[in-house]
Amino acid sequence: MALVSAEGVVLKTHALGDTSRIVVVYTREHGMVRLVAKGARKTPSRFGYALEPLSRGRYVYYFKTDRDLHLLSQADTLTATGSRLTELTRLAHAEAALELIDRLVWGEEPHAELYDLLVRALEAVVAAPEAALPAITIAFELQVASLLGYRPRLDACAQCGSPLSLELLFSPARGGMLCDRCAAEGGVLKLSADALAGLSLLLSRPVGEAGDYVEVKRTGEILRVIEAFLRHHFHRFQGLRSLELLRALQGPGSSEAA
Ligand SMILES: [Zn+2]
Repeated sequence: MALVSAEGVVLKTHALGDTSRIVVVYTREHGMVRLVAKGARKTPSRFGYALEPLSRGRYVYYFKTDRDLHLLSQADTLTATGSRLTELTRLAHAEAALELIDRLVWGEEPHAELYDLLVRALEAVVAAPEAALPAITIAFELQVASLLGYRPRLDACAQCGSPLSLELLFSPARGGMLCDRCAAEGGVLKLSADALAGLSLLLSRPVGEAGDYVEVKRTGEILRVIEAFLRHHFHRFQGLRSLELLRALQGPGSSEAA
């Protein structure tokens, strides 16, 4: 049993017994870890904000190689992100980022680039103008999928490399845009020119800059296309509940805003 230290972001927590908590942390050094925080539900907790979902902190814990749960020894808050998010829309987009990592990543395999992307996305959600939040979420979804080996192809047919159909047809199963011949096999979604332009822009720019792209149009359409793509390639992905909740609250006819 070794005492290890890792920087991480809290994805979610569960109650354990009367006073303790299980905390799921996505760490830079050790991937996804589940920590037992004894006494964490006593008030005041000695861990402060460090165990709240969305918080970024430094976690010191006893690592056991053959165990799924590790005992937390110390937790220090680096950024109490949740306490900086008071608006519902911002909170929903921040939670969508956590949900995506929770569904697409598992195991103690570290992926520093993916961790850094999550931290930058959360910073962007805190700081960006509210109108840019959908662009940040789209950029994050596209770039997480790319880092995990599923980068959608948008510049030529994803199946054969030929020039794209002028109809602008996207296949979630084949991982990108198609030519006329490959599209004839079916299973395609028709994109607007604005949606394709938005997808291309947000796939290639740093997620921290996505906040500059308030002008990205058709974000509701783009989100639906990406979700179809993610559902196809990641079996644990079933859509983002945080964004569905947001759409429900905003009511019918406002899907382009979420
Ligand atoms: Zn083709």
